[in-house]
Amino acid sequence: MGVYGLVIEDFIVKLTAHPKCGEAVREILRKTAHLVKAKSVAYAAGFCVFAARLAEAMGAIPDLSSTLPGKGTFIHQILALALPKLYYDERFRESFINGRLSSGTIRYAVEHSFEELIRYGVVDKEFANKRKRETIENSCKMIHNLARVLPLLIRELGMNKDSIRLYTELPLYSYRFHVIGVIDAIIEDPIRKRAIVVEWKTEKTPSQWELAQAYVYALLEAERLGLDDPIKAVRDDELIIPIVVRPGGDIPIYSVASIMKTTKREFDRIDMINKILLAAEHLTLIVTTPEKFIDRTTIELCKITGASGRIASAFRRVPEGLPRYNPHKHEKYPCGICIYRDACIFYIMSFEESTELDKYAWRARFAIYNVRENALKPLKELNDLAQVRVSEAGETDRKIFESIDKVEKKLHESGNRVDYFEFAEISVDDYTVYLKRPLSREEVVEGPANITTVREGKPVLVIFRDNYIINPLLRLSFHGRVDNIDIIEHNGHDYVVVAVSAPNMPSRLSLLILDTIAKYDKLFLEKPMAVEINVDLTQLELQAIDAYHRATKEILKRMISKDLMTKISSRINKDRKERVDFMLAYLFAGKALEGE
Ligand code: SF4
Repeated sequence: MGVYGLVIEDFIVKLTAHPKCGEAVREILRKTAHLVKAKSVAYAAGFCVFAARLAEAMGAIPDLSSTLPGKGTFIHQILALALPKLYYDERFRESFINGRLSSGTIRYAVEHSFEELIRYGVVDKEFANKRKRETIENSCKMIHNLARVLPLLIRELGMNKDSIRLYTELPLYSYRFHVIGVIDAIIEDPIRKRAIVVEWKTEKTPSQWELAQAYVYALLEAERLGLDDPIKAVRDDELIIPIVVRPGGDIPIYSVASIMKTTKREFDRIDMINKILLAAEHLTLIVTTPEKFIDRTTIELCKITGASGRIASAFRRVPEGLPRYNPHKHEKYPCGICIYRDACIFYIMSFEESTELDKYAWRARFAIYNVRENALKPLKELNDLAQVRVSEAGETDRKIFESIDKVEKKLHESGNRVDYFEFAEISVDDYTVYLKRPLSREEVVEGPANITTVREGKPVLVIFRDNYIINPLLRLSFHGRVDNIDIIEHNGHDYVVVAVSAPNMPSRLSLLILDTIAKYDKLFLEKPMAVEINVDLTQLELQAIDAYHRATKEILKRMISKDLMTKISSRINKDRKERVDFMLAYLFAGKALEGE
C-alpha cells in the first residue's frame, strides 16, 4: 500500500475502467491541501459512510441535544490537564508508570485541574460546579483504569521507562493519511518508536467506530514517530497500541491488541485499517475540486452513470467496502440511534429532482470547500518542504527556512509568513505565548527597526521543536493569534517579541497543558517556529448552509397550500432567475405571498 491514494485508486479504476482515472485520483490526493477529521474517518470506517459524509461535507447538524456542551467534553478537559500533572511531576511519575498511583494522588491532580479550568476561563464556573461530583468521580476512575494497565503495556511493548513522554490533546496534521486529529493522550517512547494511544469515552457501550477512531490516531502517531511504514507498524507489528478507556462498565479498557485483548468481540484489524485508509481518501475527494489538479478531458473521462441515470464524477462515488445502511430498512439499528438520521433522509435518501434552492446550496458548499483548502495551504506547503530524508528535526527546519522567501519570510505559494525564534515563554495569566529572537542585521536600519515576522492580528500555528519528530506538522503546537510585536532588551541585545494569545477556550486549555509540561521540562520551548494559518471556520459555515437548506425546504413544504403550489408551478415555467427569486422571497415573506 503506497503513500497516495492507492487504496481508492483500485476502486476508481474498476468503476471507470480507465487506468487514467486511477492516476488522476492519485494526483488529486497528492496535491490537495484538504484534510478530513479523524472522527469522520472513524465514522465512515466503523459506523456508516453516509454519517461521515453528512458530518464532513455537509456540516449536517444532528439533533439539538447533541450540540449542547456534553459531560464528555468537560471530563476530557480535566483529564487533559490532570494526566501531565501526574506524569511530569517527579513526585508522582514513577508510581504512575508502575501502576501504583494512590487514589489520593489521582484525586489531588483531578481536583486541581478542575479548579484551574475554572480559574483560567476554560469552562464556565456555573456549568462546572453543577457537574462537579460526577465529573471528578469519573475522571478519577478513568485515570485509575489507565494506570492499572500501563505497566503491562509498557513492558509488553518494550518501552524504555526513561525515555517515555506523555502528551494530551495533541493536534496532528497528516498529509500521508489526509487526516487532522487531536489525540486524547499518548504515552510514547520516541527512541524505540513505540506508543500507547488513549481515547477517553464516557458512553457506556463500546462501539466499533470508537475503536476505529483509536486506530486512526494510532496511524497518525506511527507517522509522527517517523516509522518507515506506519501502516505496517500499527496493523502487523502492533508497535502502536490504541486503547479506549471508560470510567466503568463491562469493558473499562477496550482493546483488541494481541498483547491485551479485553473483548470477545470479533475485530479484524487488517480489514479495519484498510477501511480507514479508504474512508480518509474518499472523504478528502468529496470536498476537493478536481478541476484544480487535473485537466477537463480526464474529468469528463472519469464520469459515470449512477443507478438513477444521473451522470456524476466517479471521484465522489461512495466506495464499496465501507459500511452503509438505509433508514427506511434499518429502523432500529443503526439508523434508529443515528444522530444524522433526519439529515440522512433529507440528503441521501431523497430521490426528488434537484430544485434551484438545492443547486444554490451545493454551489455555496463548494465555495466553502475552496475557502477551506486555501486556509490549509500553508500546512500543505510546510508538509511538502518537510519531505526530505533527514535524521534530525533541526535539519528539516533548516531546509524549510532555506526554501522560503528570505527577505519577506514568506512561503512561496500561499504567501503566508513563517519565522523562527530562539525561545518561547508561556504566561497563563496573560493567556499568551511570547516568542523571542534577536533582531536580525537586516532589521536594524536607521530609524525604527523594520521587523519582518508573522503579522499582527493574524492567526498563527506555533510549532515547538522536538528533536525526535521530523515533520513539523506532527509536533507539539499551539494555535493562537498574534496580538502584539515589540522590541525589548535581553542580555544586552535587542530582541523581537511576538505575543501570541489564546483567543478561545480550546486554545486556553492547550496553553494550560503546555504550561504544565514546561514547569518540569523547558526544553521544548527552545527554537519554536511560527507560521500564519487562517482559522478554519468552514464547519460553522457549512452548518449554516445545512440549516438554511433544510429549514427552507421544510417551511416551503409546510406553508405552501395547494393553490399556492399551482401558482408557484406556473411561475416555475418562467425563466430560472424568477423562479429562484420567488423561492427566496417566499422564505422571507411566505405569509404575505400567500395572501397575494
Ligand atoms: S440514518 Fe442510517 S444510513 Fe443514514 S447516516 Fe445514519 S446510520 Fe447511516
